[in-house]
Parts: sequence; structure tokens; C-alpha cells
Amino acid sequence: MSTIKENIEKVNERKEAAAKQCGRNGDDILLVGVTKTRSADEINEGIDAGLTDIGENKVQEIMDKYDFVKPVRWHMIGHLQTNKVKYIIDKVSMIHSVDSYKLAEEINKRAGQHGITMDILIQVNSAQEESKFGISTDETEELIRRILENCPNIKIRGLMCIAPFAEDPNDIRVYFAEVKKLYDQYSQIEHERLDFQYLSMGMSHDFEVAILEGSNLIRVGTAIFGERDYSKQK
Ligand SMILES: *Cc1c(COP(=O)(O)O)cnc(C)c1O
Repeated sequence: MSTIKENIEKVNERKEAAAKQCGRNGDDILLVGVTKTRSADEINEGIDAGLTDIGENKVQEIMDKYDFVKPVRWHMIGHLQTNKVKYIIDKVSMIHSVDSYKLAEEINKRAGQHGITMDILIQVNSAQEESKFGISTDETEELIRRILENCPNIKIRGLMCIAPFAEDPNDIRVYFAEVKKLYDQYSQIEHERLDFQYLSMGMSHDFEVAILEGSNLIRVGTAIFGERDYSKQK
């Protein structure tokens, strides 16, 4: 058995155990394999081993690998510049990193040109000083309302966050908890283009606590593919 396959099984076991611990079903938590810096061959190995969804954080990497990767759902999980939306709009099934109205407007425009509706998550930054990206929690609702009002080619499917790194993941449980609270709150908004189904939080070192705090989509790279060599990333 390949290492990647073994690793995916281990991640699924960890996911299952965390879900059980809070009375949930592991199958209800989507595993997105994060494939930045990984070759198409490695990614295909992951797909053969059961990955249905992969996440990339750079537009260039999606474009370079797209034609060589087996059919799979692609997620854009990294900071997205407005002028690059056009390159990925027809390739990804969800954009996790929407943190400004300007970006939403561009996604709306490009989705319209392709005759599609793009699923997005709003990236919130509950640990404000720690991260450059994500919208602050007190601006989140206004952004959601503006998108619903003005962007007919966008469907808002939930929230995403990247917790600050902590040696002990228990130290960041409060951040996950805060985002879960917002998720529950905004999921109540009644609108045909708001359909909350994804709370994207948790990475290799902290996905168990993220699950305990309500995550239903985890983004896992290192625990599946090993340590990254960033010199491979453009
Ligand atoms: C790289 C990355 C991950 C995965 O991180 P690992 O620690 O390797 O699991 C998750 N989310 C985002 C946004 C990332 O850029």
C-alpha cells in the first residue's frame, strides 16, 4: 500500500474518532486533500486512494496541474487576487477565500460570463492580528448581505477560517468556536442564494479540535502528502 493511501486512512480514522467524540458521524465531514506543491502524479495517487476533493492555494498551481489530474472537485483555498479570478472560474467548484466585496463582484462577473453559479465561502478572521487575510467578524454580515443583494451568480455556502498556529491546538478552540457561532447565526438568513452547508476549518495539526467545535470540512495537506517543499511552489 502506498504511503499516501495509508496516510489518508489514518486521517480518516482521526476524523472518525473526533466526530465520534462529539456524537457526530465522520462521513458528514468532508476531507479536502490540500495538494499545493504536489505533483499531478501524487495528486492522482490521492484520488485513487479515495480523495474526492482537493484544495490549492495558488492560481498558477491550479492552471499548471489541472489538465493532468484525474476528475475531482477542486477548491480554491488561498488568497485570491481579483485579476486572477478569470483563470480558475471554470475549474474550481468552490472558492473558500472570499474576504472582500471587490473579489465577490469579480467572481460574480466571471461566473456570469460562463453561465454558472459559483459556490463560495466567506473567509473570516476571528484572530485578527494574526493573519493578513479574512474579513473581520464584525464586517462579515454586511459582506454577506451585499453579496446576496448584488451578485446573482454567487451562492454563499458557508464560512472558512484559518486559525493562528498554536503548539497546543486546544489554545485555538475559542477561534473555531467563535466562527461556529457566526456560522449558526448566518445560516438562518433566508435567501435563495444562501445555503450554508460548509464550515471549513481545521488543518493537519488542528482538525480534531476544529471538528469538536463544529467543522464539517477539513483541509489536510501535510498529514496526507508529507512535509512540503516550498521551493516547488511558484
Ligand atoms: C496549506 C493549507 C492547508 C493545509 O495545511 P496542512 O497543515 O498541510 O494540513 C489548509 N488550508 C489552507 C488555506 C492552506 O493554505
